[in-house]
Amino acid sequence: MGRIYNFSAGPAVLPEEVLQQAAADMMDYHGCGMSVMEMSHRSKMFQDIIDEAEKDLRTLMNIPDNYKVLFLQGGASLQFAMIPLNLMKNKKADYIVTGQWAKKAYQEAKKYGDVVAVASSADKTFSYIPDCSDLPIREDADYVYICENNTIYGTKFHTLPNTKGKDLISDVSSCFLSEPVDVTKYGMIYGGVQKNIGPAGLVIAIIREDLIPESVDESVPTMMQYKIHVENGSMYNTPNCWAIYICGLVFKWLLKNGGLEAMQKKNIEKAKVLYDFLDQSKLFKGTVEPASRSLMNVPFVTGNEELDAKFVKEAKAAGFENLKGHRSVGGMRASIYNAMPKAGVEALVAFMKKFEEENA
Ligand SMILES: *Cc1c(COP(=O)(O)O)cnc(C)c1O
Repeated sequence: MGRIYNFSAGPAVLPEEVLQQAAADMMDYHGCGMSVMEMSHRSKMFQDIIDEAEKDLRTLMNIPDNYKVLFLQGGASLQFAMIPLNLMKNKKADYIVTGQWAKKAYQEAKKYGDVVAVASSADKTFSYIPDCSDLPIREDADYVYICENNTIYGTKFHTLPNTKGKDLISDVSSCFLSEPVDVTKYGMIYGGVQKNIGPAGLVIAIIREDLIPESVDESVPTMMQYKIHVENGSMYNTPNCWAIYICGLVFKWLLKNGGLEAMQKKNIEKAKVLYDFLDQSKLFKGTVEPASRSLMNVPFVTGNEELDAKFVKEAKAAGFENLKGHRSVGGMRASIYNAMPKAGVEALVAFMKKFEEENA
């Protein structure tokens, strides 16, 4: 059996060229006689891999010199605690709750200080991004937190909130490198790489250096202090070498394919194929308010749970994997990250049309 079209929300599809390169490097990376998984993280060979990955990421995102790039472990979920533990200096932070991941981050931060949800879209099952142009951001809040692309609900901030001068912290796990970004608008951008960049278990955090505290409460675990990771070049302990290497290959793939502008253009075209179909379908309906739609995660329903299940089953048999919606919302969700070719989305839409005719 060949490769299927994988619509998983994460871990998710990776570019075939990258997988082929990794396979070619597997037994003998660049003549060193071993794979990247087997080499010392203290070797020059690995230092070159991590340095090159950081350099290419800086080029792709145009990251200014006063931002640090960290390769961390513990998933995006560990950042839910590391962010307040390091950045909540006044012990006050304002969160915008637009889905489960934002809510988890908010609940975790509450353990460490006076944390308020200044906006939420829970009233309509997180199917939209609230108006964030004039929120009651507190004068002494340390930062404003968002989840920029809501993987589960398929919504995306198309305009960043007005933070009234406070630093913006953004979880970009599911839209990382999907479009150009102005890093200077953020205090910190971070994401788990397993959605749009690489293998699970690695988080990339881009943090403005003046936000990283010289000292934190002494009860904060050493491994959870940004300063320690900065001082040790993301190698205070053994990093996720393999994931860093794969991300590096993906960065090269992105650079070769025109960078983030080209990626955005492709992603807009790809998502349009699916949204245009959903907008005219008599059977399938998108669940998100059009103005808040994500280019990466597209949830949809038939309105009938049995028919949803039938669709997911028949789609799987036809080579379209992982279309079942998140367990908390049901229905379907197609995640169409950078590495999903347009042909995959077109094939899915053709299959949906056929299913619609057969089940009219
Ligand atoms: C998947 C996801 C997470 C959680 O990532 P882990 O690496 O599993 O902790 C957090 N935020 C967003 C937006 C996600 O999509």
